Amino acid sequence: MNDYDYDVVVVGAGPIGGYLANKLANKKISVLILEEHAEIGRPFQCAGLVNPKAMESVKLEDTVLTPIWGARIYSPEGTLVEIGQKEKIRTWSVCRKLFDEAVVNQAIKSGAKIWLSSKPTDMKITKEKVEMIINTPEGKKKITSKLVCGADGAHSWVRRTMRLGRPKETMIGMQIEVTGYVGTEGKLDMYTGSEISPGFFAWAIPSGETTRIGVWSQTKYIGDKSCEDLLNELMRNGKWSYRFKDCKEVGRFVGSVPSGILKKTTKSRVALFGDAAGICKPTTGGGIGPGFAHIDLILDDLSRIIKLNKLEQKDLIVIEKKLDRMRKSQNRARGLRDAFLSQSSDDELEEIFKIWAKPEVISMINEVGEIENPIPLGTKMLKDIPEFRKLAGKAIKSVLWG
Ligand SMILES: Cc1cc2nc3c(=O)[nH]c(=O)nc-3n(C[C@H](O)[C@H](O)[C@H](O)COP(=O)(O)OP(=O)(O)OC[C@H]3O[C@@H](n4cnc5c(N)ncnc54)[C@H](O)[C@@H]3O)c2cc1C
Repeated sequence: MNDYDYDVVVVGAGPIGGYLANKLANKKISVLILEEHAEIGRPFQCAGLVNPKAMESVKLEDTVLTPIWGARIYSPEGTLVEIGQKEKIRTWSVCRKLFDEAVVNQAIKSGAKIWLSSKPTDMKITKEKVEMIINTPEGKKKITSKLVCGADGAHSWVRRTMRLGRPKETMIGMQIEVTGYVGTEGKLDMYTGSEISPGFFAWAIPSGETTRIGVWSQTKYIGDKSCEDLLNELMRNGKWSYRFKDCKEVGRFVGSVPSGILKKTTKSRVALFGDAAGICKPTTGGGIGPGFAHIDLILDDLSRIIKLNKLEQKDLIVIEKKLDRMRKSQNRARGLRDAFLSQSSDDELEEIFKIWAKPEVISMINEVGEIENPIPLGTKMLKDIPEFRKLAGKAIKSVLWG
């Protein structure tokens, strides 16, 4: 018989590590969370949008700064597509510091332990156990567990140490938090075009007293420009510079958005979650919703095999298999994103926006559109709107077979 210090060690006290630890602790599994920083939720790189389903699973409405029910989306030339209905909240803009702290507190209330200012420096996996050396404020400590879960973000130490590969795509994002932006209550603004967010979009998200303004893209699209250049381009653009002219910056963040679930998220006695596993959505960069959904999907199987201490690679296949549907759906969403946005020139985007701006298409978007699941809307548009059929060629492979 083996004695373990903990059943599971979760590396990383972000929202995904906290959510996972809570769910496992509720199943009477002993959990230790390791967090390299002295406090939870700092530094963060996030626009702070949490979708209704994810919010429902943690019930942290008290961390909401602004409910978001609509969007104003602009083509490169300024064609406006305005969507949303006031009575239907599409997403929540939260204070990420409060949100992350509250998610981790839920885990602690459920019995998980946490070590702050602590990070693993070495890890040995044997047939029977995981042995980790942890740097803590009181010096080095050695602990044993049945399983280690890497929820340690985009640059995951667990993923690199275990050589579990890299996510299919990594986007880079930059965001500033400002006062003085001229926006509209309850609506986020999205700006497109090769000058400001090649292949993707820039955003302005109301967050209580402030607004989060950001861009994201990929190195293959931005060449030798930096995200800061793109952000400056957005704010100087003659069409909307009036919205930014009184902006005062109160914070700035730069970070990666790893999207494209790893081919393998598990190895004997190791499992990856959240950004560490590449689970961000290719369409929005959102990682919290899909990270929670992944945990909900595998929780029962994972807890069962932890209790049985059957955690070799062959036992973890059950978890890997469950992810296949998520992988497929991410690939389809990426195909739609590429067809409608990333692989379109500014002129093509102009054409697309002119069609989106038609009242009947706006009704379709309001009715079928979901931030978290763009596939039904995208496929309906390709099928029902004759002008979009030519895009189907680009999207068809991933939409139909992805
Ligand atoms: C500009 C930008 C905007 C974004 N906007 C949104 C958005 O609006 N909505 C959304 O859902 N997602 C958004 N995302 C993505 C979102 O921030 C991530 O998907 C989410 O934070 C992932 O959570 P996580 O717990 O997996 O990782 P993280 O939040 O990165 O947490 C990882 C934790 O692990 C700790 N850690 C790391 N390494 C170690 C180690 N070796 N030892 C101990 N601890 C360690 C870190 O300190 C951190 O606390 C955005 C990302 C960017 C870059």
